[in-house]
Amino acid sequence: MDWKKLSTTKITQVYKSVFLSQCYICNAKTQNTLCKSCHEGFPTNLNHCQRCKRPTHKASVLCGQCQTNRPAYTICIAPYRFEGIIKTLIHSIKFNQGTHYIRPLTYLLSEHLIESYSSESWPEQILYVPSHPSRIKERGFCQTKAMTIQLTKNLTELLGEKCPTLPKNNPLKKVKNTQAQHSLSRKERLKSPQSSYQLDGPIAKHIALFDDVMTTGSTIENCTKLLLKAGAERVDIWVIARTPDKEY
Ligand SMILES: [Zn+2]
Ligand SMILES: [Zn+2]
Repeated sequence: MDWKKLSTTKITQVYKSVFLSQCYICNAKTQNTLCKSCHEGFPTNLNHCQRCKRPTHKASVLCGQCQTNRPAYTICIAPYRFEGIIKTLIHSIKFNQGTHYIRPLTYLLSEHLIESYSSESWPEQILYVPSHPSRIKERGFCQTKAMTIQLTKNLTELLGEKCPTLPKNNPLKKVKNTQAQHSLSRKERLKSPQSSYQLDGPIAKHIALFDDVMTTGSTIENCTKLLLKAGAERVDIWVIARTPDKEY
């Protein structure tokens, strides 16, 4: 085959047919990101609060928390529950042994986004919830940054010009090295001060804010409020997974 004669689109197609004909998890033959059996093993967030996507047992309208306090963001996209295989994969990415899982996970999120935005206008800009610089140094990379870069690549491929732009420097900065969220109790997390994050740089009117996992939602809520205060008119939340409550 003469590769020079192929267009970029064709190269992508050929590349996909040659290299992407396997399931990312188990290597079984498939034309999709995951084979059927792996896909079925993923904890899809089917029953959830309509607003914050908190997993619930029945498809309820709004959870208790959203009834008392309406979140500041407009919509939240959270296709999976943070448990089982999703939890294992995200942990292995975080601790830098599983960066190859970034691609299938962000691809699954992209597919979900395409479906969710079929009747909504796409955000203009993608920002992400970053780790503190000292944690990035410790781990060697920022997993939400790496995921957002791949997510933007996937979306550009699928949406072309409509794809939200990813700024060269994420204007959202973590300035306070708070204790890892998962080691805090729910009460402590909700208390966690808003000033852990700061903005530095221009932001768009309609923003997509990415994080890998949403737990209590307090970090997301604080960052959303910060963006709205700085002039954003709408913030949409994009996360891969949502942690079910303890009593789930
Ligand atoms: Zn598989
Ligand atoms: Zn809710």
